[in-house]
Amino acid sequence: MEKNCVFCKIIAGEIPSAKVYEDSKVLAFLDIAPFNFGHTLVIPKAHYHCFTEIPAEDLTAMMTVAQKLAVALMRATGAPAYNLLMNNGQVAGQEVPHAHLHIIPRHVDDTVAFSAPQKHYEGDALPELAAKIREKLAKQTENQ
Ligand code: 5GP
Ligand code: ZN
Repeated sequence: MEKNCVFCKIIAGEIPSAKVYEDSKVLAFLDIAPFNFGHTLVIPKAHYHCFTEIPAEDLTAMMTVAQKLAVALMRATGAPAYNLLMNNGQVAGQEVPHAHLHIIPRHVDDTVAFSAPQKHYEGDALPELAAKIREKLAKQTENQ
C-alpha cells in the first residue's frame, strides 16, 4: 500500500467504492466520473505505477478479469461495444498513479471521443522506426 494513493485507499476500504469484482490480486470498481454509465476501472491490488511495471502474473489476472467484465458490462448496460483504455504516465493523461485499466461501455452517438489528427511518416522513417523498435525489443529480451 502506497501512502496518499487514492486507489490503495480504495483497496484498503478507507475510501468507499462501488466494487464489481474482487480477488486476491485484482479489484474492479465503477469510475466515479464515468464517460458512460458502467465505466469501470480494473486495478492490480499491489501498487504499480503503470502498465510496464506490472509483473506478468498480476497482468494476466487483470486482463482475464477485464475480459469477463467487458461482457458483463455490455449485458448490464445494453452497450453494443466498449473501449479499453490505459493512460500510462502524466503526459499520457494518467491522473491516478496506480496502474488501472478503463473499460468504457459504448453506445451509438454517445459523444465519447478518442481522436486526434493522424501523422504521416516521411521517406524511410516508417521502416527505420520499425527496425529500431525491433532492435530495442531484441535487446530487452537478451537482458531478461
Ligand atoms: P486516469 O486519468 O488516471 O487514467 O484516470 C483516473 C480515473 O480515476 C478517472 O476516470 C477518475 O474519474 C477516477 N477516479 C479518481 N478518483 C476516484 C475515486 O476516488 N473513486 C473512483 N471510483 N474513481 C476515481
Ligand atoms: Zn496505489
